[in-house]
Amino acid sequence: MRATFMYGAGDVRVETVPDPGLQQPTDAVVRIVRSCVCGSDLHPYHSLPASEQGTPMGHEFLGVIEDLGQEVTGFKRGDLVVAPFAYSDNTCVFCREGLHTSCLNGGFWAVGGVGGAQAEAIRVPQAQGTLVKLPVDEDSELLPSLLTLADVYGTGYHAAKQADVNARTTVAVIGDGAVGLMAVLSARRLGAERIILMGRHEDRTKLGVDFGATDVVPERGSEGVERVRELTGGEGVHAVLEAVGYMNSYETAVGVVRPGGVISRVGVPQYEDAPIGFGSLFGPNITLTGGPAPVRAYIEELLPDVLEGRVEPGRVFDRTIGLERVPDGYRAMDGRTALKVLIQP
Ligand SMILES: [Zn+2]
Repeated sequence: MRATFMYGAGDVRVETVPDPGLQQPTDAVVRIVRSCVCGSDLHPYHSLPASEQGTPMGHEFLGVIEDLGQEVTGFKRGDLVVAPFAYSDNTCVFCREGLHTSCLNGGFWAVGGVGGAQAEAIRVPQAQGTLVKLPVDEDSELLPSLLTLADVYGTGYHAAKQADVNARTTVAVIGDGAVGLMAVLSARRLGAERIILMGRHEDRTKLGVDFGATDVVPERGSEGVERVRELTGGEGVHAVLEAVGYMNSYETAVGVVRPGGVISRVGVPQYEDAPIGFGSLFGPNITLTGGPAPVRAYIEELLPDVLEGRVEPGRVFDRTIGLERVPDGYRAMDGRTALKVLIQP
């Protein structure tokens, strides 16, 4: 089959590799119908050290089950399924608490001998706990929206849930990438009536307004902080959903959150040290939360709205490419000429 590998920063290649097969009785093999490039794939695209051996890429997919291990029940060959960006057994102590990204038997795609999803097929460990059957055909127009359940929609939703967003919450979303826009959609779904989207790409913030943003702040840094403070009567917001991951985004979050508020991070932090002391979080009683979203915990909850067309998160995809053009897809997302690239292998 053909599959995508990264050999170093900026070096993405599509290569022929052996087809994946079952290794454990708990595995499945899925033929990938739709995949995509993630904003988080851009971090290694900027910084991965060069190596002889490429790293498999991609962690978002939906596809058709081609083969099933003996211990996997509840599925059959030919089922269309979606997978979250982490696999999990859905039964261990952490899964039962809704924290599937910490599953005792789980792990992440493209790590430790598991392939990536920017490929024609993939082996799925812990298939029974990981996969969710989709009640549509593989030519359904809903596929782009259903694919967002693999990561970005669930990740945006996690940000909003961790911040306890509700009808009384004023929200600021930092970042107008796909996760930021999904955080807007999620905050709206949870009832927030005031949602300030901080982003400076007009085509993206327009989509954010469609998804429920009430205000757009294109200014960055201290100007952006000042603008959000003005919009909230000087108080700041109850909930900051941080969907970028850079240090300056964290500083903006600290700047716009109100006393007693919550900063909920889902952008993968590109820093280890950040202010948490008296002048930043402790003094004003700020809660800092967030982490890799246990997307598996949210799929069943978010699925009906997508199936019934009440939300259309798939609008974040603004380009569709074949597998051979995946390197162009990375370039387009890195150059901000595409918001999120859909791959149709
Ligand atoms: Zn588990």
